[in-house]
Amino acid sequence: MQIIRSISSLRRAIEGARGKRILVPTMGALHQGHAALIRRARQRAGKSGSVAVSIFVNPTQFGPGEDFTRYPRHWTRDRDLCRKLGVDLIFAPPTEVIYQPDHSCYVEETAVSERYCGASRPGHFRGVSTVVCQLFHLLQPTEALFGEKDYQQLCVIRRMVRDLHLPVKIVGCPTVREEDGLAMSSRNAYLSPGERAAAPNLYRGLTMARQCFSEGITAPGRLKQAARRPIRKIPGLRLEYLELVDPETLEPVRRAAPESRMLLAARLGSTRLIDNIAMS
Ligand code: AMP
Repeated sequence: MQIIRSISSLRRAIEGARGKRILVPTMGALHQGHAALIRRARQRAGKSGSVAVSIFVNPTQFGPGEDFTRYPRHWTRDRDLCRKLGVDLIFAPPTEVIYQPDHSCYVEETAVSERYCGASRPGHFRGVSTVVCQLFHLLQPTEALFGEKDYQQLCVIRRMVRDLHLPVKIVGCPTVREEDGLAMSSRNAYLSPGERAAAPNLYRGLTMARQCFSEGITAPGRLKQAARRPIRKIPGLRLEYLELVDPETLEPVRRAAPESRMLLAARLGSTRLIDNIAMS
C-alpha cells in the first residue's frame, strides 16, 4: 500500500494507471461506515483495478467556530485499517499541499446545496465540492464512492459531476448503523454516555415515518409528525430540520412516494447529527 502526501508523488503513482480506479474520499477517523465503502470499492475494482482512499480533514468545509480543530484524527489506526482492507493507495496530504495560503478558487453548486445543511452551515458544501473536485483532478478516479449517510452531500456531488462533465461515476452506498440504529459517524465520539443512549431515537423517528408510509399515509405533515414522536423524547435535542424531499432535487414533496427521502439534522449538546431514510 502506497502512502502519498505530495502532488508530485501522486502524479508519479497514477501515471499510466489503467483499469478501474476507485476513490473513497474521507476525513479519516475511519469507522465501519467507511470500511463498508472501502470493501465495496475493492469488490468493484476487482484484481485489475485499484482502490485509493483520501484522508484529509478539509478546512474549507468547516465554518468558523465549528469542530475543525477538535475533529478526531487517528492516523495509525486508519492506515492499518486501509492496509487490512486491501487499499492500494492512501492520499493524505497536509493542508498546505491542497490549499495555497492565498487560494481563491472554489467550486460551488447553487441549487441542491441551498437548504438544510447548506442553510445551517454556510459555505460547507462549497468547501466539500471544491475539495472533491480537487481530489478528482488529482487522483483521476473512474469511480468514487460516497455514503448515503451524507445524503445532501451525495446529491451535491452528483450535480457537480453532471454539470461540470467530470468523467467520474458516482456510486452511493447505504448507511451503516450501530446495532441500535444510530448512523455511524466520526462525530458520535463527541456524545456523552447519556446522549449516546438517547441518540438512536433519531433513527427510530425515521423508521416510524417509513412504517406509516407503508401503511398508506402519504401526507408529509403526518409522516413528519410520526417521526417527531420518538425524536421529541431525546432530552436536550434541538431539531434543526426534518423534511420529506424529492431524492434528486431535494425539494420538499407534497405527497410521499416510495423514493422520497426524509432528511434530518439535530443538535445534541455540542454534537450535530444528521440522518435520512427512503420511504421504502
Ligand atoms: P467523512 O469521513 O465523514 O467525510 O465520510 C467519508 C465518506 O464516508 C462519505 O462519503 C460519507 O458519506 C461516508 N460515510 C460516513 N459515515 C457513513 C456511514 N455510517 N455509512 C455509510 N457511509 C458513511
